[in-house]
Amino acid sequence: MSEALKQSPASSRSTPQKTPADASETVPRSDWSESEARALYDLPFPELLFRAQSVHRQNFAPDVIETATLLSIKTGGCPEDCGYCSQSAHYKTGVKATKLMEVERVVAEAARAKAGGATRFCMGAAWRSPKDRDLETVCAMIEGVRGLGLETCVTLGMLTPAQVERLGDAGLDYYNHNIDTSRAFYPEIITTRTMDDRLETLDHVRRGGIKLCAGGIVGMGETVEDRIAMLVILSGLDPHPESVPLNMWNAIAGTPVIDKAEPADAIAFVRLVALARILMPKSVVRLSAGRDGMSDETQALCFLAGANSIFTGDVLLTTGNPDRDRDGKLLHKLGLKTAALRPQLPQESCGCH
Ligand code: SF4
Repeated sequence: MSEALKQSPASSRSTPQKTPADASETVPRSDWSESEARALYDLPFPELLFRAQSVHRQNFAPDVIETATLLSIKTGGCPEDCGYCSQSAHYKTGVKATKLMEVERVVAEAARAKAGGATRFCMGAAWRSPKDRDLETVCAMIEGVRGLGLETCVTLGMLTPAQVERLGDAGLDYYNHNIDTSRAFYPEIITTRTMDDRLETLDHVRRGGIKLCAGGIVGMGETVEDRIAMLVILSGLDPHPESVPLNMWNAIAGTPVIDKAEPADAIAFVRLVALARILMPKSVVRLSAGRDGMSDETQALCFLAGANSIFTGDVLLTTGNPDRDRDGKLLHKLGLKTAALRPQLPQESCGCH
């Protein structure tokens, strides 16, 4: 046995250990600086995971994973030029544009997702912003899906305050609107809208009393600084988004990002998950796109780092996702169970929205 392995537990305890993240770290803060976030990100890996796991346990049951299912209700032909997206009309990616699905079909898909164990049903439409007529159809979908007892989430592009109000009246629980990346890297991947456009819609949604689902994507050629800056922007929202999806970009042929993309190293991705958990202690952190390319071990580390939500189902909008069988086996191996999670953010308890 090597000398290192022969060390007694007492000698291994000689390394100074911080107590579980200081109490101050579990109170949501919206003033994290990039340098503070970088210092956390760069902690020795065991220390970072220990802190993230400590924060996680103070806010969530460590053995519960939320499962959501995502359906593309209107695919392709999008006028936006997001350089990572298979659905942009600007690129030849082989994705066929479709019309908005019928309400009955969507509700039937939601019923199937519920039977498969999903607790939330997310519906995505490839629009820059919805037309009012289409919004009415989406509202009927929301009402139908809620009628099944599922939480609802939609992602429809930019919204006006009046559209937010209409969605709220239909009973929408969550609105997804990712900030994608850092402010500095944003113009390199999207030119048809700005980060401020994105933040404006998030503000409308928050003011309209609908919960926020907002995250971003890694592996598009951005730097580690960009990834950290993205999380700092999200943690600067007050209150934090209730859901924070982190996506590992799935290489999509035909998109411009493919020329500069570099997949994030698995450990770097786990570090980012841990950082999200520490910066936004009461938010649900979701492993989203790219999970099908992750090993079981990487996913296990992500759960240890504080991720507590996954998308289930074979596809995510237009890209692959692990099948339910693989997910079921993984969760079983890890002793994790699935259930709906209640984000514990201030606006939920004060009831003032
Ligand atoms: S990410 Fe959304 S907004 Fe951007 S091109 Fe794709 S569908 Fe359109």
